[in-house]
Amino acid sequence: MNAEIIAVGSELLLGQIANTNAQYISKGLADIGVNVYYHSVVGDNQTRLSSVIQTAKSRSNLLIFTGGLGPTKDDLTKETIADIFQKELVHDEASLAYITNYFVQTNREMTPNNRKQALIIKDSTVLPNENGMAPGMAFTHENVTCILLPGPPSEMKPMFNKSVIPYLYSKMDVQIKLYSRVLKFFGIGESILETKLQDLIENQTNPTIAPLASEHEVTIRLTAAHSDERTAKKLLDETEHKIMNRVSTYFYGYDEETLEKQTIDLLQERNVTIASAESLTGGLFGKIVTDIPGASAVYNGGVVVYSTALKQALLHLPKTITDNHGVVSPECAEWMAAEIKNQTGADYGISFTGVAGPEEQEGKPVGTVFIGISDKNGTRSYPLKLAGSRKGIREKTVKHGFRFLNQ
Ligand code: ATP
Ligand code: MG
Repeated sequence: MNAEIIAVGSELLLGQIANTNAQYISKGLADIGVNVYYHSVVGDNQTRLSSVIQTAKSRSNLLIFTGGLGPTKDDLTKETIADIFQKELVHDEASLAYITNYFVQTNREMTPNNRKQALIIKDSTVLPNENGMAPGMAFTHENVTCILLPGPPSEMKPMFNKSVIPYLYSKMDVQIKLYSRVLKFFGIGESILETKLQDLIENQTNPTIAPLASEHEVTIRLTAAHSDERTAKKLLDETEHKIMNRVSTYFYGYDEETLEKQTIDLLQERNVTIASAESLTGGLFGKIVTDIPGASAVYNGGVVVYSTALKQALLHLPKTITDNHGVVSPECAEWMAAEIKNQTGADYGISFTGVAGPEEQEGKPVGTVFIGISDKNGTRSYPLKLAGSRKGIREKTVKHGFRFLNQ
């Protein structure tokens, strides 16, 4: 398949705007292995556009047009193409309904011009426009495929990704396969992650980048389409690299890996043991650790010290800490972590103290959590402010514990 991109618009020739559409489409086509041999730019002039199309159809079998699908007089791309390929223009009922509804919804008057936007080349595949009114279209005539896309990049880009790429796959004789890779993150919200990656997500065509939130974590699925597995992997690697440059702090693993299993594997590799002292999590950490096969090589065990009295009795929590700082404090978390480490002889002690709710405690709001970690280098604590239900706060607390052990 030899492709040619034809951008229509006098403003392009006048230098008022740059032909970024051609660049975007070229990149998208290169990514799926379609050769682009020519870019043309032509003004809103039927004679000159006709001549460009005549030349293009004689040397390329995929012509992709952008611009000139709008309602005004100077928008004449589809009229000119229809004329050259001797096709009729017909009203597409779905597009007409969509446009009419738009005017009803926005309380604006529809002019006959707007009906023109619902005109499509007969027997073409309509490419829906989610961000504007003029639909795109695609058809093949005597071995030449024409694809018509709107000019505004905000309309053209989603249409290209959602409709053109699949259309081309269905036309291409090479076997395209999809290759996916899931990147897993913890400790960053979905919306913050999306904001950090917004331009990548919007501009990426192959692989596509799809973030998804689940179980207090965020995953990003990268999907590359290519006929060649090695090239697909290379595309995945490049995009992964770009993502990691921005959010690697929160990354913990791939595909089926879980934060919990990954942490236990890491500790096992380091040949170290851990013990836990849990307050607000009430044994949830121990439960999740011991759900993992092979945990016994790493986990000595732990205590659930829910009441202050039991913290004092089993972990010798001093009165100076309870009186001066309370049990929801870095001091208490650090004491608990150091004490459980020393009592059990484990390499790491980890502790969890905080307010799971629904009521505040010691004047500290719901979601205030401290995780203590003690090892041969000393003892430290991590403050967290978590949101959610009592259950959610406890689950997130445990996950953060795994994250700190993973560092
Ligand atoms: P509309 O319905 O908005 O009229 P259209 O499909 O008729 O859309 P044009 O009228 O050709 O498209 O262009 C509309 C706007 O889209 C231009 O003013 C410009 O901002 C942008 N645009 C058009 N072509 C390109 C291009 N090749 N590269 C980048 N931007 C473009
Ligand atoms: Mg226009």
